[in-house]
Amino acid sequence: MTQKFKNYINGKWVDATVGETYENRNPANGNLLGIFPKSSRHDVLKAIDAAHKAYLHWRLVPAPKRGEILYRVGQLLVERKEQIASEMTMEMGKVVKETRGDVQEGIDMSFFAAGEGRRLLGDTTPSELPNKFAMSVRMPIGVIGVITPWNFPMAIPTWKIMPALVAGNAIVWKPARWTPWSAYNLTKALEEAGLPVGVLNLVFGFGGAVGDPMVEDKRIGMISFTGSTDVGTNLQARCPKTYKRVSCEMGGKNAIMVMDDADLDLAVEGIIWSAFGTTGQRCTACSRLIAHKKIIKPLTEKVVARAKALRLGDGLDPKTEMGPVVNADARAKIHEYVQIGKREGAKLLCGGYMPDKPPLNKGYFYAPTVFGGVTPKMRIAQEEIFGPVLGIIACGSLEEAVTINNETDFGLSSAIYTKDVNRAFHAMRDIDTGLCYINSGTIGAEVHLPFGGTRGTGNGHREAGQEALTTFTEWKSIFVDFSGKLQKAQIDEVKVAKK
Ligand code: NAP
Repeated sequence: MTQKFKNYINGKWVDATVGETYENRNPANGNLLGIFPKSSRHDVLKAIDAAHKAYLHWRLVPAPKRGEILYRVGQLLVERKEQIASEMTMEMGKVVKETRGDVQEGIDMSFFAAGEGRRLLGDTTPSELPNKFAMSVRMPIGVIGVITPWNFPMAIPTWKIMPALVAGNAIVWKPARWTPWSAYNLTKALEEAGLPVGVLNLVFGFGGAVGDPMVEDKRIGMISFTGSTDVGTNLQARCPKTYKRVSCEMGGKNAIMVMDDADLDLAVEGIIWSAFGTTGQRCTACSRLIAHKKIIKPLTEKVVARAKALRLGDGLDPKTEMGPVVNADARAKIHEYVQIGKREGAKLLCGGYMPDKPPLNKGYFYAPTVFGGVTPKMRIAQEEIFGPVLGIIACGSLEEAVTINNETDFGLSSAIYTKDVNRAFHAMRDIDTGLCYINSGTIGAEVHLPFGGTRGTGNGHREAGQEALTTFTEWKSIFVDFSGKLQKAQIDEVKVAKK
């Protein structure tokens, strides 16, 4: 029998108020995986009520104790890693080796945030006046609205939820409609780890039906969003109307630059992994290869040969190297971009079609696709396709490569392959993206370093690392005057005796 799932509100698993539901299906074969609530405003308001109430207690729980609960979540995720990874593969398609990595990132983030419970560092600093003490401390914001995408259903929610919780915030979480099972698995671990009632509330459902009430309610102090640039830009315009902070991690158009002195075989490994891992559906996926003219021919031949040889299939099969894309719309968008690329005059070197033989015809598969002869201003070189499509652009120098790399609306991740340390340092200085890799692909973030992008990718916040605490806290500056008299900053003259 198909399992029917519920929302998690105020510590209870409950149906959506109006009782509507939707089906969660496997993109590799269409199999039904579960029935989930399709929530409405009523459900969101209940979740906000619960979070608002719970926040008043949670903020007073000592941070090391909050951290201990997160540590237990990490332990539960370790125990359940295999099960959670398989269920994630079933609902969103990426191969199980990668979904294990996704769960591992959730584990890493849980342990990292747990440790921060014993730090949550502020500053102590001298006052400009005598007999006065000054410090800054971190305060929770209140209730955080967390809105997450489907491509990293464990890693991305934990990047937000763990630092927000350790800092003393309560949460209303709207996961992507395509990955509700993973959201259930994480919430179950939080519940079983002992998170107090109401501190995290999970509301399943579709886009604005759940998102709008979160954005409109003044009791939510911040929206933390990861997803497309369209939705994120819209949230950035609306959140300030209810005085909300909004952090947005959005699209990418990431490039790997390969110089003429690079180890080409090493570069090919990084290119294939970055372009076709997660079926090209990572915000950090490489969709542009900027290759030096002197090596572009052999490099292209090697990349095309490897792309053609990738084994497509169900991500649960250990032999599969690339799974399906997430749904029919995503595949139609990818196919449309391939037509755009052809019309723009790029040369299709491999792929560009939907496999139509069984068993691949049962799922949303798309052949690994490589275009040659791409120029920097083509739409396929500028717009996020979010699928297994790589465009190869020629360059004549490091400077030209960096210029091409920087001239898109996005600024998430870049990589350069070179053996020349001087070139590597020039690239590190001049690349305008939030992540930068030397002699490695565009993917591979680690939870203790800040994650996020410049320009159209982000709005100035960072997730992960200690920077995540700044994203999910307010600063309070505190002054303690123990002089026993009124002292006036900037007005009183403090005389320093010569001897
Ligand atoms: P999306 O369509 O923008 O959806 C992201 C989340 O926003 C989902 O939970 C979605 O709900 C929700 N949403 C949609 N409309 C909304 C509205 N009007 N109000 C509030 N929430 C709304 O993005 P996606 O397709 O899930 O993810 C792919 C995108 O995410 C790509 O552009 C990718 O680059 C980006 N991404 C960025 C990063 C990063 O760190 N920079 C990381 C991963 C992904 P529904 O699922 O119900 O529509």
